[in-house]
Amino acid sequence: MYNNTKQRGSNRAPNYSSGGRSTGPSRGGFSSNRSSFSRGGGSRSGGGRNKRKSSFERIDVSRFISKSTVVEKEEIYIPTHTFADFKIDAKLKLAIANKNYVYPSPIQDKSIVHALEGRDILGIADTGTGKTAAFLIPIINKIINNRDETAIIIAPTRELAIQIETEFNEFVRGMKIFGVVCVGGAPIQNQIRNLRRECNVVIGTPGRLLDLVKRGEINLSSTRSIVLDEADRMLDMGFIDDITFLLEKTPTDRQGFFFSATLPKPIEKLIERFATDPVKVMVKTRETSKNVEQDVIRINNGANKIDVLCQLLDKENEFKKVLIFSEMKHSVEKLSVELIKRGYKAGSIHGDKRHNDRQRTLLRFRNDEINIMVATDVAARGLDIPEVTHVINYEIPQTYDTYIHRIGRTGRASSKGVALTFVG
Ligand code: AMP
Repeated sequence: MYNNTKQRGSNRAPNYSSGGRSTGPSRGGFSSNRSSFSRGGGSRSGGGRNKRKSSFERIDVSRFISKSTVVEKEEIYIPTHTFADFKIDAKLKLAIANKNYVYPSPIQDKSIVHALEGRDILGIADTGTGKTAAFLIPIINKIINNRDETAIIIAPTRELAIQIETEFNEFVRGMKIFGVVCVGGAPIQNQIRNLRRECNVVIGTPGRLLDLVKRGEINLSSTRSIVLDEADRMLDMGFIDDITFLLEKTPTDRQGFFFSATLPKPIEKLIERFATDPVKVMVKTRETSKNVEQDVIRINNGANKIDVLCQLLDKENEFKKVLIFSEMKHSVEKLSVELIKRGYKAGSIHGDKRHNDRQRTLLRFRNDEINIMVATDVAARGLDIPEVTHVINYEIPQTYDTYIHRIGRTGRASSKGVALTFVG
């Protein structure tokens, strides 16, 4: 129960809300013009005339070049378990089978057994490893066994929260187990209304969750599970105090799932403080994907960057699904508008766009209605978008870590990808 009083006289209807006022029903929920640019080749030192006097040049340009034309197969991981081995409810096993998950991914294989025993989990894993199911399966199983069980899942971005909700809904279809998404940029009143209905799982972004806790709409004192997804990203985004506050509100004996791609000091300390003897599971992360061919596009003096971009995009049968990164919200929007004007099927996601617009663009990109998506790093964080053929860094990322995250959007699941970075 998330509030101090049971709701609607039901013994089996946990609720995050302290309101208790609702009587509503449960709800279901991407020829080279040598005169203007050249591809790769040149100096691999990152210095010389291309050196920019900005903070960006902290990254050696040679790190953006890696021509591995061979598609290397992922190292085959042999799981020690099958989903059938897990001591989970038959309905959940069926839901997993319906999602066509046959073998647990490494993170799932190594963590689910322990999570089912109630252990805290520290997962060092990036997006694309199957970490979502690694925490959802044990949490959902707990809820199946006890409808009073509740969980809170904290994610850095709205898009990631919604992605988690989608996977959650697929797992719990027909089980009358409900989740509510509470993210910034969407009307809080609707979220409050949903929280006051029957729900076992709240999935949200730190700022909005904090707001709802302070308003008394979410009571964490009896939550049984808490998940921090992409904890290092939340730190980067300035959410450390918010997530600390939320963790402090949860009981000490609740189960904790802490997922992070890296372990910066403040996150390490946070986990030390809030996790109890966690099972540490690391999924090997490569510095860069072996399946991503990386190169730079040098913008020579006087060349128009957008013309250079369009020459690339015009290459037939190559740039099929392109994710373009730019640093600022306004530059993302400007580039997207210009591409649309020039007849490309493009869209944009960045923080100034309304939540619904971002979701719509993402869906259109997923469904191939558009094949170019321009994004800021924050907006694209953690998104699982299959089959991106090219990542283009229209502007050099601020840090190498950001670069690695960006190019990780292509070359997934043993398919070949290309990452091109505009320099000059
Ligand atoms: P995640 O890292 O949780 O974002 O998951 C990355 C992708 O892998 C998602 O599209 C999942 O649906 C998919 N996935 C997760 N676990 C499995 C599994 N055991 N078998 C096949 N696909 C999976």
